[in-house]
Amino acid sequence: MPRLTRRALLAGSGAAALSPRADPAAAAAPPAGREVPGIYRYRIGTFELTALYDGIWYRPITDKFIRNASFAEVESALADAFMPADKLATPFTTLIVNTGKRLILIDTGTGGQIAPSAGALCDNLVAAGIDPKTIDLIVISHFHPDHINGIKDKDNELVFPNAEIMASAAEWNFWMDDANMTAAPADLRLTFRNQWRIFSDIARNVTRFTPGAEVAPGIVTLAAPGHTPGHTVFAIHSGDQSLLVLGDTAQHPAVFARHPDWQAAFDIDGETAVATRKKLFDRAAADRMLVTGYHFPFPACGHLIKTASGYEHVPVEWQPTL
Ligand SMILES: [Zn+2]
Repeated sequence: MPRLTRRALLAGSGAAALSPRADPAAAAAPPAGREVPGIYRYRIGTFELTALYDGIWYRPITDKFIRNASFAEVESALADAFMPADKLATPFTTLIVNTGKRLILIDTGTGGQIAPSAGALCDNLVAAGIDPKTIDLIVISHFHPDHINGIKDKDNELVFPNAEIMASAAEWNFWMDDANMTAAPADLRLTFRNQWRIFSDIARNVTRFTPGAEVAPGIVTLAAPGHTPGHTVFAIHSGDQSLLVLGDTAQHPAVFARHPDWQAAFDIDGETAVATRKKLFDRAAADRMLVTGYHFPFPACGHLIKTASGYEHVPVEWQPTL
């Protein structure tokens, strides 16, 4: 193969050697025209975990997006992360934990009811060889629509008909309360209405936990308030391995791990959200814990390093074997 210099590449003489035209067989293959399934499997001890991609929403943002930083600072953070200036990349990754006794889904995706570019969870379940009827427990981190809408399809039918649902008592008490809904500003009232649509007719099937409880052997709940009052994270332990399931402790890490003090407009209590984020991130960084975040880039799993001004997320290497 001829030695390629940068000059040769720029001049096109080297590029010709790399061109698909050099290989007529490759040139004849039609483009696939669609993405491959979003599935990543890994193990924590004897538990088998499956990360399932539901898609992404490019959330439009304005100068109100961060309560305690200027929009110029936000734009600069987005530019540093190669992200569009007026949108927050918001990917959604749900997690299935097979403990050997139970098949547990942590958060349920958007149900295709948030953005046209999200709602792939069911297709990815099929691609992963998992029948929704075999999920026997759904655990919810908090009640924002991108975490609960996947419980029901657009016709209000249960997507996982055999699953018990578990949610935080604090979260339930906040969102399912009449007085809180009446007192909420108009845009938040829409969120309340959505929770009621999902939960009102299945309330009897929703078991409520308090922080510290195990939702299944090896899966412990930890209070992580701020983003919402009952926001919960999960510590999964099996053998000598652990995983911290961070939910929405931070949204995209390129923004919120690097700038852990930022209070987003969608945090119900911004100060508490920041305190929770720093406490959990400090612990994860100090203990070198594997973490997963619902809005981290797929497969949403990696480690956190403490830096001079915040934290940096280091994604996992793709493992070819379990
Ligand atoms: Zn979320």
